[in-house]
Amino acid sequence: MTEEFIRSIKGTQDILPSQSHRWQVLEAVIHNTMDTYGYSEIRTPAFERTELFSRGVGEETDIVSKEMYSWTDQGGENLTLKPELTAPVVRSFIQHNLGGQSPINKLYYIDALFRRERPQKGRYRQFHQFGIETFGSEHPEIDAEVIALAMSVFNDIGLTGLNLKLNSIGSPECRDNYRNALRDFLKPHFNDLSETSQKRFENNPMRILDTKIPHEIEILKEAPNISDSLTAEDKAHFEEVCSLLDAMGTQYLIESNLVRGLDYYTRTTFEITSTELGAQDAICGGGRYDGLVERLGGKPTPGIGFAAGMERILLALGDDDLSGKTTQVYIVGLGDRVRPTVAKLAEDLRQNNVRTDFDPLRRSMKAQMREANKCGATIAIIIGDKELESGQAEIKDLKTGDQEPVKIKALVDHINSLTL
Ligand code: AMP
Repeated sequence: MTEEFIRSIKGTQDILPSQSHRWQVLEAVIHNTMDTYGYSEIRTPAFERTELFSRGVGEETDIVSKEMYSWTDQGGENLTLKPELTAPVVRSFIQHNLGGQSPINKLYYIDALFRRERPQKGRYRQFHQFGIETFGSEHPEIDAEVIALAMSVFNDIGLTGLNLKLNSIGSPECRDNYRNALRDFLKPHFNDLSETSQKRFENNPMRILDTKIPHEIEILKEAPNISDSLTAEDKAHFEEVCSLLDAMGTQYLIESNLVRGLDYYTRTTFEITSTELGAQDAICGGGRYDGLVERLGGKPTPGIGFAAGMERILLALGDDDLSGKTTQVYIVGLGDRVRPTVAKLAEDLRQNNVRTDFDPLRRSMKAQMREANKCGATIAIIIGDKELESGQAEIKDLKTGDQEPVKIKALVDHINSLTL
């Protein structure tokens, strides 16, 4: 048995070489799609002041009230490992006056996050998200773009069985009306509500809509709809988001229960789930937050963003869906004298972008050939004393088994002329 300290912390995972190529494929798709849609990457520090999250995410959220990894450092500062990315990106946007430099900022990130949740499949304490934050436009075309972008990443990576749920929660004023309507509706059922929901009843009744308790879900079936509380302007905004998505051919379902309880969330909200996942089926959540920049001390700036869970994307894709790149050429070197030739050849091939490997364990010919096959190489180059003397190496096509001599000096050109 290994000692405790040699085991990773509960809810954290190593990404081993057998899996890391899947991450690289996903990351490449993300970078590529962001590039196509005109988004630029932003990277923020791993930790921030705790206050940024309590103010930016909200004290009453699960994240801030019970899931943050927070500590006081040696200088007495209260710090927190980032549990989400919107607050840090907004902080950076304000701090560097990005809004002053350009009226529209389209930013994206790929990052690790930390939340002390109860670990289970698809739910970890350190996990990864990619996401975007767009600042500067309140107009529906940016809502539609953001949603289409998320779907584009998922489609390009090969995810199927996705459901895009869409709603509008209107402006803060109409949410006040809705909260009152919801309280009026729930009042006669108050004693049937769970303790958590009873607590939420006063300060944030909209969060009761997130309940997973069956009898509460039953009660809520008759609850008033937020769409009835939207102003004419909010309704028009939402209708335009929907018609733009229709025009772009993006399919969605309007789900009136999809709400975000915090004050600075406005208008469009959306969630993308996968039928390939179990209980933790949410892949992506997003929405508008037109009040957030101002709330954190910046100039009033509309914003919209989403965050998508990368572990869940990889879980939803089968293991076979993302094949990695394998070695193309394996050099089988035999004997002490060939080592400089092998080293130079490997270096020359690698400088020519050929994925090349050789055996640093100085094993037998048989063992090296086995390794060449195992690593997926298409070509083995065999060089021993005899080949060194004749100036001709043997080249073996590992798929067909065909073998031919090629001048050592001409090897790089020869390999370059092949389709590997
Ligand atoms: P959120 O930031 O809570 O809106 O989550 C956005 C997305 O991140 C979710 O849809 C999930 O795909 C993913 N996610 C959230 N929490 C976790 C977690 N603890 N472990 C893994 N993925 C998560």
